[in-house]
Amino acid sequence: MEQPSKRITSIPESATLAMTAKAREMKENGIDVISLSIGEPDFKTPKHIQQGAIDAINEGKYFAYPPVNGYLDLRKAISEKLKRDNNLDYSPNQIVVSNGAKQSIANVFMSILDPGDEVIVFTPYWVSYSAMIMLAEGSPVFVNGTFENDFKVTADQLEAAITDKTKAVIFSSPCNPTGSVFTKDDLEKIAVVLRQHSDIIVIADEIYEHINFSGKHVSIGSLDGMLDRTVTVNGFSKGYAMTGWRVGYIGAPTWIAKAANKMQGQYTSGNSSISQRAALAALNGPLDATAEMAEAYKSRRQLVYDLLREIPGFEVNMPEGAFYFFPDVSHYVGKSYNGTTINSVGDLCLFLLEDAHVSLVTGEAFGDPDCLRLSYAASEEDLKTAIANMKESLAKLS
Ligand code: PMP
Ligand code: GLU
Repeated sequence: MEQPSKRITSIPESATLAMTAKAREMKENGIDVISLSIGEPDFKTPKHIQQGAIDAINEGKYFAYPPVNGYLDLRKAISEKLKRDNNLDYSPNQIVVSNGAKQSIANVFMSILDPGDEVIVFTPYWVSYSAMIMLAEGSPVFVNGTFENDFKVTADQLEAAITDKTKAVIFSSPCNPTGSVFTKDDLEKIAVVLRQHSDIIVIADEIYEHINFSGKHVSIGSLDGMLDRTVTVNGFSKGYAMTGWRVGYIGAPTWIAKAANKMQGQYTSGNSSISQRAALAALNGPLDATAEMAEAYKSRRQLVYDLLREIPGFEVNMPEGAFYFFPDVSHYVGKSYNGTTINSVGDLCLFLLEDAHVSLVTGEAFGDPDCLRLSYAASEEDLKTAIANMKESLAKLS
């Protein structure tokens, strides 16, 4: 008898992973699908990081359960990194290493939310924030950034959304899915509002820190008076091409770090020992490979921008970071092909998967039903073919 809980039936499946699974299935059936649905570097983990894992295995010292919150030397290296690069002063005891930034964020929501607590989510938002908030019995409050303002929520919008139930605010910068980057000035204005509400916790997802084409990354936690109530989320998946190693972390006020540690201790224990040693090698090693990858994304960004702008009905912003485009494609909703009507951008994505053999993700999963997300973490050749195929398929709609 199948009786899944109300908790699990109330949340959607992760749309990024669902679309990617569909593309994988088509590939297994011999169809040549180009996957632009998942946000995953197409590069290999740099050699010196791989070597860190190999050395750890050869040393034979890392086969037992690691500490729940991560090895002390790794937490020390993270604490130093946050101080050096981000001007954030979290001690090693304020760091919790987890099974990807995904678990880091889930831990935080489980640690701070009581039923009914509101979390302001800057929208468009990364797909899993809302489901994680609901799983922790909180209520997401979506505040929409506009296309005209590069999808960035303003301080006034934030102010208007705050109620006496607001427990936290979450956003990513550089942003998944829009690629927008909050400048120091943007963050300072947001901090002005937040300083008047000292109980609100800020969750700053900085996992795309190294993929920023607009200048130096700024952490909101480094602004005056913000550190004590800011949880900074980061990880190794994007900047070091380490998605499969599953290492993410938070720097947080001590009480939140303690709670996240407790949560993780009951749910999963510490993160994979060998992956943690690889992560330490990443922090201790050079950033050349990271910079080369960022350069490659930058030149692909220009290529994709030029190609997408040639597609009629696509409204495209120039992203400043991460590796996504988030065009408004609502022009195509209501059109049809062979008697089938495209009723939503979700339908459009399915049409493009079947007809153009390109997998994308509907913007609805990120809180904006007019847009779709295209990940350009793919080869230039694949990007050119994919966009040419999309253009050809879209021309069939009328
Ligand atoms: N935050 C954002 C904005 C992301 O795009 C991702 C990538 N899925 C994550 C968090 C989680 O990353 P990971 O679990 O691979 O560290
Ligand atoms: N961050 C990636 C994405 O947004 C990974 C997929 C996921 O974990 O949802 O596509």
